[in-house]
Amino acid sequence: MSDDGHPEHNAPDSGPTLRVKALEALLVEKGLVDPAALDAIVDQYEHRVGPRIGARVVARAWVDAAFRARLLANANAAIAELGIPSGPEGEHLMALENAPRLHNMVVCTLCSCYPWPVLGLPPAWYKSFAYRSRAVADPRGVLREFGVELAPEVEIRVWDSSAELRYLVIPMRPAGTGHLSEAELAALVTRDAMIGTAIVNYPPPAAAKSAAE
Ligand code: FE
Repeated sequence: MSDDGHPEHNAPDSGPTLRVKALEALLVEKGLVDPAALDAIVDQYEHRVGPRIGARVVARAWVDAAFRARLLANANAAIAELGIPSGPEGEHLMALENAPRLHNMVVCTLCSCYPWPVLGLPPAWYKSFAYRSRAVADPRGVLREFGVELAPEVEIRVWDSSAELRYLVIPMRPAGTGHLSEAELAALVTRDAMIGTAIVNYPPPAAAKSAAE
């Protein structure tokens, strides 16, 4: 996995992480797995499959007010309408809608609870001690580090995920996107925007790289 660009976010590896690394090293050494193949699988779940599913949900909510209302009322039932199973790590999902004066941001202060069915695997920074502690203590400062400067009148609401309840942020639809198709809208929605550490821009910034991969 690549460095997340925030070295201070990287706490020392925990016991399970060390065991996984040792196991991976052993399998590679014995020629049983190809490290490039492993990286490709992780990349697939972190950046492609996972967040693209959530982006579909967001785009539908942007174009269909009735769907948005159902999503906010019962996220699991609404994503099932799109053929997305809730599955493990997503049994109780709640959608949080951003508004001109409200920005929602998600953290798991205890560990790394994350809505797998719609976002895939959590990025490394989401699991870091620095993010988990500072997201609550100084959300505006953390957002600034992600390149998001919110006006002072925008309230930031931080939601603490748990094994029982996980969150999906519905970012605001950017202005000037009235002519875009639902698929084109979905392509604008980034993983970080659905965690609440980014906003959706249109047109997308050149070389639209996530603030912290
Ligand atoms: Fe957790």
